[in-house]
Amino acid sequence: MKLSKLYMPTLREVPADAEIASHQLLLRGAFIRKSASGIYTYLPLGYKVIKKVEKIVREEMDRAGSQEILMSAIQPKEIWEASDRWDRFGPEMFKLRDRNDREFCLGPTAEEYFTTLIKDEVKSYKQLPLNLYQIQTKYRDEKRPRFGINRAREFSMKDAYSFDTTPETMQVSYMEMYRAYEKIFDRLGLDYKIVEGDNGAMGGKKSHEFIALSETGEGVIAYSPTGKYAATQEKAKVVYELPERCERLELEEVYTPDSTTIEAVASFLGLKSQNCIKAIDLMVSGNPVIVFIPGDRELNMAKLEGYLMTPEHEIEMMNDEQILSINSAPRYTGPIGLSEDVRLIFDKSITQMDNLVVGANKVGYHIKNANYDRDFKGEICEDLLEVREGDIIEGTNEKFKFARGIEVGNIFQLGTKYSEALNATYLDENGKEQLIWMGSYGVGVTRTVTAIVEQNYDENGIIWPMSVAPYHVIVTVVNPKDEIQLELGEKIYNSLVELGHEVLLDDRNERAGVKFKDRDLIGIPIRITVGKRAAEEIVEYSLRRETEKTEIFAKEAIEKVSGEIFNSSVKDNLSKALLDLFEN
Ligand code: ATP
Ligand code: MG
Repeated sequence: MKLSKLYMPTLREVPADAEIASHQLLLRGAFIRKSASGIYTYLPLGYKVIKKVEKIVREEMDRAGSQEILMSAIQPKEIWEASDRWDRFGPEMFKLRDRNDREFCLGPTAEEYFTTLIKDEVKSYKQLPLNLYQIQTKYRDEKRPRFGINRAREFSMKDAYSFDTTPETMQVSYMEMYRAYEKIFDRLGLDYKIVEGDNGAMGGKKSHEFIALSETGEGVIAYSPTGKYAATQEKAKVVYELPERCERLELEEVYTPDSTTIEAVASFLGLKSQNCIKAIDLMVSGNPVIVFIPGDRELNMAKLEGYLMTPEHEIEMMNDEQILSINSAPRYTGPIGLSEDVRLIFDKSITQMDNLVVGANKVGYHIKNANYDRDFKGEICEDLLEVREGDIIEGTNEKFKFARGIEVGNIFQLGTKYSEALNATYLDENGKEQLIWMGSYGVGVTRTVTAIVEQNYDENGIIWPMSVAPYHVIVTVVNPKDEIQLELGEKIYNSLVELGHEVLLDDRNERAGVKFKDRDLIGIPIRITVGKRAAEEIVEYSLRRETEKTEIFAKEAIEKVSGEIFNSSVKDNLSKALLDLFEN
């Protein structure tokens, strides 16, 4: 492709609302354009990168025995009602009506849709296992779309669904996808961690997230230094270090003026914040729920959502009026003396500590020496706490370390949640009707592109790995008005194209500085510069990733390009082959 023809409106300025490097560089390098909040257009360079990521995803999915189909982005309401997710998905789901008032959604994912597709045609154990996938646009009306195509409202996802006869074979299918994902993210050149995830709204028991390491990532990984354990912060279990047990003392109401925070109460009473219970006043699906945790910790919302089996959008903080209506006072809520209809939920640690300080449900007062069972009671939840760096990892002497990253893939063992809801069954060897066991597997195709950029850039722009670079080589003609330069540039360009490489020729009548800036910005891996020594057939050869530049004959440069591209594809194949070897 000649740059004089390519639609590549690069930007000099950093766009005002782009906070992270990938967002800035993808806009500046003319890969994407915003059309509305969280909704983007892929320009020629950007769309090429997306197609390369898709190609790698397709190859590995096909190799793993999954078959590609394409379902509509529009899904009927009824199937979502059957699984009880039409309302549960909440405001994130884009909903629409046709002219006959029939309701649909723009698919945010497709467990129901795929299950519906196969359920009437898969009838016998002989037709299983089955694994189907699609690469299809997904829609989620995210609360906070941000970072460009990293958290968008319209994005491309590869989603796959496995269908099996037993929990054991479901696990086999799951592990096949796990390995396919390793290959995909290896080939994309990402530095990533595989961590245990929280199943959240998807249901089922076990899941893993593939997280590309990046300081700008929204995900926090809690992992053990020896690498034996890694989970998302939502999932990682807290082993709370309990204080020593002691004799239970008499209840005592104390005046605690202006002490509206845990720290203030603790310091006023000369106690540790651990001994002062933190109350979180919530309305859950319209009903009052108070959650109690030790004063030195934070509530983990994902764990609470899991315990309550309630989606996030149905949980909100109480307002002052609501707090007053349950017989309490804002910032002084405690478990003693609240109205009967309030649901009280305690982190288990509360039940294992003595003489705690709790809010007295009236302004300016707390109660000392409150003890679970003797003075208050409620539901006990095993673990509602947010894990911290330095916390002990269950069953080990190791302590959690944290890293940040971008979730690029997520795989789930779903069990029979969707087959039960949609009545997807098969007949086993004995002619008995059984539920199908399912898994679901997602790769964020467009988000992955942002993760690749976050891991591959410098102050001048993007540095694409060869496997996803929009073009392999850029040939820059320093002064296209000089016929000798232009002629040599075109000759090199034509030979490289002939050899099957993907090449850009910068033949624009622009200043050399502009061209060099653009080629750094768009991150093409191999560069050939045709300048003053064109008459001698000498060009400059360099790699985007390295600073070294060499002057060589044009012929040699063409050979080097081929070698470089060949090597990187060998490396790519080698990593696939090695993975296979280790598996078998
Ligand atoms: P997140 O926790 O980041 O909101 P999720 O867990 O809801 O993501 P999944 O339902 O697991 O997402 O979707 C599968 C994959 O799709 C994710 O791993 C991610 O790579 C991608 N993805 C999800 N939401 C978005 C989004 N809003 N924009 C771009 N990609 C997304
Ligand atoms: Mg996920």
